[in-house]
Amino acid sequence: MHLDFRPLFSGSTGNSELVAFDDTVLLIDAGRTGKLLDEAIKAQGFDMRRVRAILVTHEHIDHIRGVGVLARKYGMEVYASAGTWAAMAEKVGEIPARQRCEFCPDEDFYIDRVNVSPFSIPHDAAQPTGYALSCGGKKVSVMTDLGHTTRELLSRVEGSDVMLMEANHDIRMLTDGTYPERLKRRILSGKGHLSNEACGRALVDMLSAGRPRVYLGHLSEENNVPELAYSTVARMLESAGAKVGRDVFLSMTYPDRAAQAASL
Ligand SMILES: [Zn+2]
Ligand SMILES: [Zn+2]
Repeated sequence: MHLDFRPLFSGSTGNSELVAFDDTVLLIDAGRTGKLLDEAIKAQGFDMRRVRAILVTHEHIDHIRGVGVLARKYGMEVYASAGTWAAMAEKVGEIPARQRCEFCPDEDFYIDRVNVSPFSIPHDAAQPTGYALSCGGKKVSVMTDLGHTTRELLSRVEGSDVMLMEANHDIRMLTDGTYPERLKRRILSGKGHLSNEACGRALVDMLSAGRPRVYLGHLSEENNVPELAYSTVARMLESAGAKVGRDVFLSMTYPDRAAQAASL
């Protein structure tokens, strides 16, 4: 069983990750235009016609912008929680009933041989979810757009070989920055976005489980800098006794281009 994971785009301008377990190719979110996602997939040596399903985390536009166009053009299934379906129905337009798949968060299901385990996350959306996918003893998870983590949440992604974890902002840059107070409060709230520091803490809490490859995702272009996100998380891991590059591998993601692939 071969696992391939490629964050195609990550950030407030659009999010999408490609996951392939052998021949089962899935997209988690499709937050750029259908055209851009088409090109991005092609550039990675994949074909959108091979994408079996799109798994949607929540209805914010940076996660669903291309969902309707791609579903109508290619006929793949689209999976989302009932709350997300209701909240995104208008924005994604008409999708044939046979392609509309609804799940209950915290209830596993299968796509081909891939076990999909969606879990509820705290975010200011209708019924947002993260995903843990596993097959053939390999596990990949995506946990982005959440205000805080809990032990229960971390237990869902623990043991992942590859994970994408949000490192949205540096708290100091956000609080000192130019965003309106209301927006700052929303981002910092328990249902907002995960800071570099909170991301680092969550990873430290999961240290004992395997040697994961971690992608830092959904970086704010206004309130974060890639080097700062990396060094904050790396420093926290190292002070907890982990060696970055040996016990845990850190990779960056980008708003406008694909990150380096994880292939195992
Ligand atoms: Zn987002
Ligand atoms: Zn969001």
